[in-house]
Amino acid sequence: SSFESSGLRQHLVNNVKKSGYTKPTPIQRYSIPIIMNGRDLMGCAQTGSGKTAAFLLPIINSLMSSQEPPIVEEGTAQPSVVIVSPTRELTIQIYEQAKKFSHNSIVKVVEAYGGTSTNYQRNRVLAGCHILVATPGRLNDFVNKRCVSFAAVKFFVLDEADRMLDMGFLPNVEQMLGHDTMTPTGERQTLMFSATFPEEIQHLAGKFLHNYIFIAV
Ligand code: AMP
Repeated sequence: SSFESSGLRQHLVNNVKKSGYTKPTPIQRYSIPIIMNGRDLMGCAQTGSGKTAAFLLPIINSLMSSQEPPIVEEGTAQPSVVIVSPTRELTIQIYEQAKKFSHNSIVKVVEAYGGTSTNYQRNRVLAGCHILVATPGRLNDFVNKRCVSFAAVKFFVLDEADRMLDMGFLPNVEQMLGHDTMTPTGERQTLMFSATFPEEIQHLAGKFLHNYIFIAV
């Protein structure tokens, strides 16, 4: 199996190769077709397994295919993809990978995390973004201030769910996923990743994922 035979667009495969990846890791081999087939996914995988590209590649492929510009309406950004990650470091890593994969395409990626100027990040978000990578606190802040809405979300990704749990972010995440516009529909895909699968995470998956596929590597 290879990136070429994965069904991803040629431009995306080229960007992947330029990032120095020669062949998909196991989590990428399993996840890419599942996500491309429109299914929700619970993936148990450690950092270092290549899980970031496992969800970014099918998502960016879908955005490149639709060629739709980012939506901003009445001062509110409506990203098509929201990726929630527990820490600033992880948020930056996901952002950097997403930037590389979407190089020279219509796809716009923005990052948002706490501890830095809200204004700068808000301006970037409101300039339009397909993919918003954010920590839970800053994301909730933007949603509460109507700077971001989930109305157009097609992919919602929860990365390192067990670390979110350890850091006390679960109520925050439940609030986001419980949002009116986030009710499970066939329209939106929800993807969750976690290194471990304790009861709280199983419960979260059962509550918010829709007919999901479970994989562990
Ligand atoms: P992750 O588990 O997503 O944090 O990725 C761990 C590291 O592996 C990152 O530095 C990635 O850039 C790298 N990586 C991910 N997928 C591949 C691949 N297919 N080939 C080579 N390196 C990869």
